[in-house]
This record gives sequence, C-alpha cells and structure tokens, in this order.
Amino acid sequence: MRLPEYLAELGRKRIEGFPVEGFVYGTGPKFPKIMLVGEAPGETEIHNGIPFSGRAGQKLMEFLAGLRLTREDVYITSTVRSRPYVWREKRDGSVRKYNRPPTAAEIKAHAPLLDYEIEHVHASIIVTLGNVGLQRLLGKDVKVTEVHGQLLKRSVRHINENNQYYRSEKKYNIFPTFHPASVFYNPKLREDISGDQMELRTLLEKEDFV
Ligand code: URA
Repeated sequence: MRLPEYLAELGRKRIEGFPVEGFVYGTGPKFPKIMLVGEAPGETEIHNGIPFSGRAGQKLMEFLAGLRLTREDVYITSTVRSRPYVWREKRDGSVRKYNRPPTAAEIKAHAPLLDYEIEHVHASIIVTLGNVGLQRLLGKDVKVTEVHGQLLKRSVRHINENNQYYRSEKKYNIFPTFHPASVFYNPKLREDISGDQMELRTLLEKEDFV
C-alpha cells in the first residue's frame, strides 16, 4: 500500500516551516497481520526512504523475528514522516542536527496521512511503538508504561476538516509496546519488551488473527 501522492503533498505542505527534513512513506502490504506505528524517521531513514532502517530498525527487526515475521509481512509507518531535528553544539564547538521528538503541532500536521493508512491498511492489530504513536491514536492520558503488552479495542483519534481530533466510530485492535530505541537509554526495558513480544506472538497465533 502506498500513500496517494496528493496526501504526501498535503503532508509536505502542512509541515512546512517546522524544523523537520525529508519525507518517508509507510511501506508494506494492504492486508498485513500487523501495522507498526513509530514516532518519526531519523537521519538514516530520510536518506534511504526506508522506515526503521537505522539503529532502532535493527531492534525492530529482532522484535519481528521473535514473532516469526519479517519486514515484508508487516506495514511500517510513523506518526510524523519527516525528521524533527534540533541544532546542537558538539564538544568541539561545531554544530550538528540531532533527532528530537515531534511536537504536538508536527504530529497534527501529519495526522491526515496516518488517518488514511489506518483506514486503508487492513491490519488485524495496530502495534504502537512508544508514547508518540500511542497518544496520537488514543490521547495524551494513555501511557505506554501503563498499557504495554495489552490488546486494547478502542476508537482512535482522527483529524477533521477543522483540524480538530475526534474519535472514530470504528474500534481497532491496538497493542502498545515500547519504542525499539528505548532500550538504548533504558536497557531495563528489554524484559518488558520481550514480555510484550511473547504476548503478541500468542495473539497472532490465535486463529481469529490469522
Ligand atoms: N523511529 C521511528 O519511529 N521511525 C523510524 O522510521 C525510525 C526511527
């Protein structure tokens, strides 16, 4: 499934003026078992156009391997399609761009793109990776530390023509887990992530999710 060009163009326009760069499309089949929703691309992704192809991507591939899945089996996308950056000084006095989490305004700017994918990719389960994707879909009061590893059947937030979020009528299967990059700064999360992975594998093995 490829995002239609008019929506990619809309996304590029809506995010103009924010400190972001590049544009990465979601990739994967139209009828995958799972759809993964990350945060935003990093430097590697905006250069090769492949979501989760950098360091976090390696961790994500390990997660998928534990589910007996590969990149080709799943639809991979992000809440924001451009890389949010901040200029920071290095120790030697030079400056370079660093990744940063997307702001609420940037998330809203790309909301129509994720809405389209949620509606047109027929995934049995939407797996959110970290708080950014989770809260984009379920709202700010839902936290990954509290709901990870559980299958939630919920309405999701879509955006309307007045640029306001509203809740979908349809309920989706949402399975929140941590962002694969979270283990780089908090190695203790590795255990939680493997627990979530086992839970998800059990769910996928159930007949109704095949
Ligand atoms: N993190 C994300 O959320 N998406 C990517 O594509 C890469 C890192």
